Amino acid sequence: MRAPSYGTQVCGMRLLDFRLPDFLRVAWVSQAARNYWSPRIQAIQRAWNDIEWQSVARGIRRSAILTVGHSELVELGRTLCAEKLIALPLARVAATPGVYQSRAMEPADDAPFSYRLVVASPDVSLKFMDAWLAGSAADIGHFLGYPRCCRTFFQRTWVDAALIDPTWPMAGGQIGDTSEVRQIDLTARFECNVLARFVGVRAVPHLPCRFSCPESGSFGSALLELGDELGFTGEMADLKEILNWSFEWSALHGVAEVRTPVMKVAVATDATAECHVVRLHGQAFPKHGARGHRFPYGSPARSFEPSRVPAPLVTISSLEVSSEGKDGSDQG
Ligand SMILES: [Zn+2]
Repeated sequence: MRAPSYGTQVCGMRLLDFRLPDFLRVAWVSQAARNYWSPRIQAIQRAWNDIEWQSVARGIRRSAILTVGHSELVELGRTLCAEKLIALPLARVAATPGVYQSRAMEPADDAPFSYRLVVASPDVSLKFMDAWLAGSAADIGHFLGYPRCCRTFFQRTWVDAALIDPTWPMAGGQIGDTSEVRQIDLTARFECNVLARFVGVRAVPHLPCRFSCPESGSFGSALLELGDELGFTGEMADLKEILNWSFEWSALHGVAEVRTPVMKVAVATDATAECHVVRLHGQAFPKHGARGHRFPYGSPARSFEPSRVPAPLVTISSLEVSSEGKDGSDQG
């Protein structure tokens, strides 16, 4: 795992020369919040696994990557065969149930592992494997149906800059230069909100180039619509609501904390010398959410209305200056 040199400036962040191993800590604001939301999040995760491969069967995209355990392989093979699809194993990855892996981890000897598979037609599977073996992120992303703008962003941040968490450059994509900025406040297209991916809640399988990426928004809409068609109506409603909550991501010294009104998640991120904060101002407030003056516990007061289109908001703050009023609708 490549770590940057000490003090390197990357995407407006000053990086430190270490990287923590992946971990996940989830803290709920109350037992009531946990009892209500934890089963719903698990149901969304199960639905998402089906949506991933069904999106290939339904022609939304040409391939998908799944991570499955031994016990699921036989059943998956039979299911895919009925759809004229196959699954080719790409790698063995450490089985770490519930832990988001920023990069696939090799399993230790004799340790439990899962298979990472590509699901596609036989013809596409072979082409995908060529791209995989060549290590071509652009071609892999192309076969997986990721938007071109996001593939370019992935190459720049994940591959070339070796970041493991592109949240800051994603937010920066809506304002430009972030080298003098420490906090960015914005409204997201909810399909582009991937801050809940650490607990398996997301509307797109990739990392969007920005929180307002229109191509990612359309891709996410198609996947959520498919979820409804597959009968996951309740799960999709919960997913949309969660992605419309307010989120705060803050990162310092290799630890990111993601706060929502019902839970806080701590995960490994790129080690930065300064604290960087991204706030997504949502339009929904969850049942059993904790109320308080501090963001994200204080807003919004209104209940969730999926049809309501929020006014674009982007404000940026640094230690010295604070400016606002930039137009976040950079969707061109
Ligand atoms: Zn994009």
